[in-house]
Amino acid sequence: MTQTIIEFKNVTKSYQETQVLTGVDLTIEAGKFYTLLGPSGSGKTTILRLIAGFSNATSGDIIFDGKRINDVPANKRRVNTVFQNYALFPNMNVFENVAFGMTLKGVNKVQIKEKVTSMLEMVQLAGYADRSIDELSGGQQQRVAIARALANDPEVLLLDEPLSALDYKLRKDMQYELRELQQRLGITFIFVTHDQEEALAMSDWIFVMNEGKILQNGSPVDIYDEPINHFVANFIGESNIIDGVMREDYKVMFAGKEFENVDAGMRPNERVEVVLRPEDLDLTTPENGKLIVTIDAQSFRGDYYEISAHDDDNNEWRIQATNPSVLNSRQGLTFDPEDIHIMRFDESEDDYDARLDNYEE
Ligand code: ADP
Ligand code: MG
Repeated sequence: MTQTIIEFKNVTKSYQETQVLTGVDLTIEAGKFYTLLGPSGSGKTTILRLIAGFSNATSGDIIFDGKRINDVPANKRRVNTVFQNYALFPNMNVFENVAFGMTLKGVNKVQIKEKVTSMLEMVQLAGYADRSIDELSGGQQQRVAIARALANDPEVLLLDEPLSALDYKLRKDMQYELRELQQRLGITFIFVTHDQEEALAMSDWIFVMNEGKILQNGSPVDIYDEPINHFVANFIGESNIIDGVMREDYKVMFAGKEFENVDAGMRPNERVEVVLRPEDLDLTTPENGKLIVTIDAQSFRGDYYEISAHDDDNNEWRIQATNPSVLNSRQGLTFDPEDIHIMRFDESEDDYDARLDNYEE
């Protein structure tokens, strides 16, 4: 049984003239790991602030546990936030930081001690209670911030790019730990990142945002495999995006040739964009290729070679290959029908092209 804990219904947010959220609808179910993913300035923090009650929606409804909470003050919401810069109190030690919310509420000392001890154990900082904040590494400060937020028993934990200040190795470890913590606690996490790899690795469900709108939401696999438009395809991993035409069901034309694919339900000859992921492409001999490409450049990436090539129709291709290729050689390119992902042509980009044409005249 899944239970909806948070809902946004047509929520907008404006500052003076500028609209920073437009018609946001979202549904958050209890006990799952959600990620808001989008570039800087897309409105991710704004959504967290609306959930936490640090900011008011300009219009629309924000529902928590079935009740409209637009007018409920922040301290009455069962939500806590882990901020991007941790926002720990530098003049308090670790214990006092974690105890902060409970101390404010007047919880008795014995209970506070018990809770802080168990929270510090949970984030693997047992024995650090008396340390001052500036004696901690970035990763340890991050854990204190998480312990402090969880000590208030929130129903929902909001995490605003909590890993962005950490170095690569620690970041990977913390991704795993946060995911594990969420599963152990069984509460809802809403995590914000601009890093698609992080989003794919951690989430049950991703909301992809751009310019104050949610463009797509779904499981990591859905979003990776079936991006809804050009922006999402590009943002979620590297893609080859090529103009094409759906001739009829299961027949798509691109790069000057017709291919069998697995999509149906478009108008005959509908204009589409075709997405092929670099890791789904293979190089072979020209006779065995579905397309012929010329190798333009390659670089070694540790576990694969990243190759750029172009076909005879002048489309650029990114290919991840296990073996190196000879520069300027002609090779066959192969892919499976199910690796051809079809997107409806993005009208807004058509407008953009039209505007560009006008401009260029
Ligand atoms: P993100 O977290 O995705 O980087 P934000 O939600 O912080 O994005 O910001 C979304 C947009 O809202 C940005 O263009 C930002 O400049 C604008 N914005 C945020 N806060 C304010 C504010 N207090 N006044 C005016 N504009 C703001
Ligand atoms: Mg932000």
